[in-house]
Amino acid sequence: MTEARKPVHSGGCQCGAVRFAVYAEPLHSAICHCRMCQKAFGSFFAPFAVVELGQFVWTRGGPTIFASSQISQRGFCNKCGTPLSCFSNGSAEINIPTGSFDHPEKLPPTFQAGIEGRMPWFADMQSLRGKTTDQLMPKQVLKELENRQHPDHDTPAWPPE
Ligand SMILES: [Zn+2]
Ligand SMILES: [Zn+2]
Repeated sequence: MTEARKPVHSGGCQCGAVRFAVYAEPLHSAICHCRMCQKAFGSFFAPFAVVELGQFVWTRGGPTIFASSQISQRGFCNKCGTPLSCFSNGSAEINIPTGSFDHPEKLPPTFQAGIEGRMPWFADMQSLRGKTTDQLMPKQVLKELENRQHPDHDTPAWPPE
């Protein structure tokens, strides 16, 4: 399949088996604190960019679907487990996890959903003490680390031959 449009955003799962392209700016960017999203992401909340279906294409592979309710389909990579989509049956939009975009920093959230599930200490997280990965991991370990994560851009083939 050839695609004449130029993507505005691209992204995919951690292992690179599934990649996607977005051809228009998302309608909005949000985080959802609901218990379904917490479980699906193994996280305190889920970040989502809401994209028009017509502006979205899976460009390599595609997600495996778990129907988390009779109205919702949650997609994930069946090789590495990355959450990749949340879709309500019949909707004209698809929710794509913002962290799976190649440049999530370009999609700051402007809305919170499911705030009944928000962790009581959510607002305090920014003030936690912190260290960089370099500070936490021995230099030798970092040097010898074989990073199998797909890079933050499209590749003709992955893993590289
Ligand atoms: Zn994967
Ligand atoms: Zn949710």
